[in-house]
Amino acid sequence: MPTHFDAIIIGSGQAGPSLANSLTQAGRTVAFVERKLFGGTCVNNGCTPTKALVASAYVAQKARIATDYGVIAPAPISVDMKAVKARKDKIVLASRTGVEGWLRNMPRCTVYRGHARFESPKEVRVNDDLLAADQIFINVGGRAVVPDFPGVNEVPYLTNVSILDLDTLPRHLVIVGGSYVGLEFAQIFRRFGSEVTVIEKNPRLCHREDQDVSASIRSFLEKEGIHVRTSAECIHFKRQGNDIAAGVDCTEDPTDSIGSHVLLAVGRRPNTDDLGLEKAGIAHDKHGYITVDDQLRTSVPGIWALGDCNGRGAFTHTAWNDFEIVAANLLDNDPRRVTDRILCYALYTDPPLGRVGLTETEVRESGKPALIGTRPMTRVSRAIEKGETEGFIKILVDAASKQIIGANILGTGGDEAIHCILDTMYAKAPYTNIQRAVHIHPTVSELLPTVLGDLKPLI
Ligand SMILES: Cc1cc2nc3c(=O)[nH]c(=O)nc-3n(C[C@H](O)[C@H](O)[C@H](O)COP(=O)(O)OP(=O)(O)OC[C@H]3O[C@@H](n4cnc5c(N)ncnc54)[C@H](O)[C@@H]3O)c2cc1C
Repeated sequence: MPTHFDAIIIGSGQAGPSLANSLTQAGRTVAFVERKLFGGTCVNNGCTPTKALVASAYVAQKARIATDYGVIAPAPISVDMKAVKARKDKIVLASRTGVEGWLRNMPRCTVYRGHARFESPKEVRVNDDLLAADQIFINVGGRAVVPDFPGVNEVPYLTNVSILDLDTLPRHLVIVGGSYVGLEFAQIFRRFGSEVTVIEKNPRLCHREDQDVSASIRSFLEKEGIHVRTSAECIHFKRQGNDIAAGVDCTEDPTDSIGSHVLLAVGRRPNTDDLGLEKAGIAHDKHGYITVDDQLRTSVPGIWALGDCNGRGAFTHTAWNDFEIVAANLLDNDPRRVTDRILCYALYTDPPLGRVGLTETEVRESGKPALIGTRPMTRVSRAIEKGETEGFIKILVDAASKQIIGANILGTGGDEAIHCILDTMYAKAPYTNIQRAVHIHPTVSELLPTVLGDLKPLI
């Protein structure tokens, strides 16, 4: 006989725990299922640990160039990887135990440890327990793709999970994948002291970004000594003594990149292949992403999918917004929608990239009349004072409505400064709102009115 609850939530990622909180506060009983680490990817092997490592890497780099700032630091700089890992682990553990404690102490919430699988549209099995509810919420996230490159199974490789267990420095880290996850790790380990090679199958890094953004990122990474091999059309691996040889071209360039370690950072796949979706009749696409409507309802009444597993977002903030949308619709009679969301994210290289809305390429492709404003970080006084002048600001405005439709701030503080643009976009206010605002000096944000005061037609 199943144990009945008002709701079952599968997965303690970014949406599930907050949803459990809202449902239980509304007086409902919740069965909460987590098979592994409370807090999911972001807390355990995504945002939190990587940003902790980014911070250590930033300090290492600043120490290395300390004399540029008139500061005497012993040279050469070295990094104690065990201490770096211990710092990162402490931050992660605090967050993980916080999520677990929150759920375990939540009134009306019962936590189950184990892998959940659907038995029917209203039943989920966890080990020997059969749970039943009229409302089921799937928040199972995703994991790293391991592509079937020739030789990949004959060499040891790292993913975003296993690389976080390293407490020694790789001599030469070869990273397959020159996008967001791969580039953060590339700069982190280069700054710790590894040789780093990035292999990317597209002709440029972060190929979804504008050409000038990709070029600028490549430039500052190469200045730090990271080797970049783009247009790698034929990636394959073999062992070479204790090392791993990564080949990138099967015809023209036979030179292999020889690494002591290989990290695969070529994308994510949803954790839906072993969820018993077929037993509940839940529709999904060919990649396994669960099909949802604008309010995150699946094809089966009474079942919702939130977070990375629905393919509508790939970030912690989008997963959390999924919780907000479901909770608003179910509990507050507030018809929030996924399509109300404006695309925004950051790449946490140093300098970071803050991004919102459309790229310049997308605006051009749309054919709509637009205005553009740009400014290099070499002309931002805060950046000059900090000695961090890589990158540039770019803002795109719809010529008719005067609303901002896209922007990037690739530069120091770009991950924070981008939010004044984002909030103006949410307000559907014209760009003149920012242009006429008086911003604090000296900040990166203070130059946004200047950029917007000098817009040119996008031709
Ligand atoms: C290296 C890296 C860095 C990242 N950095 C950032 C960043 O800086 N900013 C950002 O916004 N995003 C970042 N992300 C993305 C972010 O981590 C994810 O978008 C976010 O964690 C998705 O949350 P989620 O709620 O969908 O699922 P997840 O956080 O993946 O959680 C899913 C949970 O479900 C559990 N689960 C899965 N299947 C079952 C099952 N059958 N039964 C029971 N439990 C199950 C899993 O164990 C897991 O705990 C990063 C990702 C990676 C890999």
